[in-house]
Amino acid sequence: MGLEEKLPSGFLLTTVEQAAGWVRKSSMFPATFGLACCAIEMMTTGAGRYDLARFGMEVFRGSPRQADLMIVAGRVSQKMAPVLRQVYDQMPNPKWVISMGVCASSGGMFNNYAIVQGVDHIVPVDIYLPGCPPRPEMLLDSILKLHKHVQGEKLGVNREEAAREAEEAARKA
Ligand code: SF4
Repeated sequence: MGLEEKLPSGFLLTTVEQAAGWVRKSSMFPATFGLACCAIEMMTTGAGRYDLARFGMEVFRGSPRQADLMIVAGRVSQKMAPVLRQVYDQMPNPKWVISMGVCASSGGMFNNYAIVQGVDHIVPVDIYLPGCPPRPEMLLDSILKLHKHVQGEKLGVNREEAAREAEEAARKA
């Protein structure tokens, strides 16, 4: 099969932005860490049955410097919050965050002083995945949704700054 047949149609005519989006979404590397029970489902997603490798992301990186996707799998304790932020800061841009499970997204059943009531207090979140725990199929679905989002992202946008500006605009409105 020739190279032209393997490439998506119109590939050579696409914009640099679209090409960059395609490259980014096709080679995401999640950071290796899990915080609680949701992490078991995340690990299952990487194993043979669900085969995360199909989407170009089989390698969970041991170093945040080599990762561009943070999957917050489980509840975030107050003690863990600064560590989580440090890992996020060590990841190079562009980077994305999936909040996996109700605990990571809102504290879930742990409505108490020890647990952060939503990881978006610590890092910007791109996808909130509901469930306790979400099944591997749900994580795969959220990853594919993130891929779609990444494909359409503009180049050179500071996402944290953009989110701050949007928040400010919403407050003023
Ligand atoms: Fe555990 Fe459920 Fe919380 Fe996930 S959402 S960390 S499975 S209690």
